[in-house]
Amino acid sequence: SNNLDITAIRNDFPILEEIVNGKQLVYFDNAATTQKPKVVLDAISGYYEHYNANIHRGIHQLAEKATAAFEDSRKRLQQFLNAPSFEEIIFTYGTTDGINLVAQTYGRKFLKEGDEVIISAMEHHSNIVPWQMLCEEKGCILKVIPINDDGELLMDEYEALLTERTKFVSVVHVSNSLGTINPVKEIIRKAHEVGAKVLLDGAQASSHLSIDVQDLDCDFYSLSLHKIYGPTGMGILFGKKELLNAMPPYRGGGEMIKEVTFEKTTYNELPYKFEAGTPNIADVIAAKYALDYVDTLGKPNIAAYENSLLEYATQAVMEIEGLKIIGKAKEKVSVLSFVIDGIHHQDTGVLLDQQGIAVRTGHHCTQPLMRRFNITGTTRASFAVYNTTAEIDRLIQGLHKVKKMLG
Ligand code: PMP
Repeated sequence: SNNLDITAIRNDFPILEEIVNGKQLVYFDNAATTQKPKVVLDAISGYYEHYNANIHRGIHQLAEKATAAFEDSRKRLQQFLNAPSFEEIIFTYGTTDGINLVAQTYGRKFLKEGDEVIISAMEHHSNIVPWQMLCEEKGCILKVIPINDDGELLMDEYEALLTERTKFVSVVHVSNSLGTINPVKEIIRKAHEVGAKVLLDGAQASSHLSIDVQDLDCDFYSLSLHKIYGPTGMGILFGKKELLNAMPPYRGGGEMIKEVTFEKTTYNELPYKFEAGTPNIADVIAAKYALDYVDTLGKPNIAAYENSLLEYATQAVMEIEGLKIIGKAKEKVSVLSFVIDGIHHQDTGVLLDQQGIAVRTGHHCTQPLMRRFNITGTTRASFAVYNTTAEIDRLIQGLHKVKKMLG
């Protein structure tokens, strides 16, 4: 039961008509990247066809139009996160880029030898490696919040890790491998009690949950638009203004400067201080259309529908003998990860692909998490608003076929 017209929604996504290996595509790899509605595709080509120009410095018509659309997108993203001001919205290449920005600017300036950084056992490599690089350079110590067998953070253990040496906590809002929704508000509150700053990796959360950075009181929030029906290669970093102001620039170049001489350069104001070079203009502009599309459907409607798909799929796969779900958190989004006794996830993926069903297999850029479960990878089906129970039925049939062939 939902108030979304799924048939109409499917018609907004041209790619869903594709035929793969003789079958109509079933796309269940939405946690890797979602498909894009026609309005987003049209926004990209519309920019290139009608007002392609470099932004901010141009004085001609096209440059003014492109600049206005670009800055409109920033305001739209500000609203999307309920950020207090547009200066706190920094355009990046994506979640990974935003995390590296914080580690390389805030981290390098404010962390010193012996300071501690806390991450969790379920982090994506993009929220592990930048902190390892920083810790190696500065002599800081990286600590990891453990999880239980259902894939939930052990909050008592987290509290035990927090001390006056903790300077930074960086955790994933929603796990891409397990679907777990973490209790981030509590994580932030506890970190702030010891004076640590907090970054949330919002790559997966932003397509399923409503995000309010003021209510969360997070210091930084990094996300990718390609997971929210938007284009690849762009994302945003939210940061609290006083922190962004105190941070040195990330990359040097055009746009991020106020005045350059060979003796000394002064830097531009927020947010431009962090945006060196010509950005991904077309995709930034198109991002606004993706968010408008999501808002037209209504995020709570999307979440309710996705949850019904998750429930349907979870019930159905539990009937399959030898199949074990990895990630059984009480609070989770529409990500279904599983292993099947005696069958390698890669073989499962190949056989499903032969039936036109796209899933993700492997470690999902979370190798330490896979090690925690003593596995090398899972098969992951992740659902978006355009998916249907009929498609899930095809997955289940597909899995029965896999079992028959390999089991
Ligand atoms: N964190 C999580 C939880 C993710 O799922 C992803 C994308 N798989 C990332 C970070 C990295 O996002 P991007 O590749 O867009 O930078």
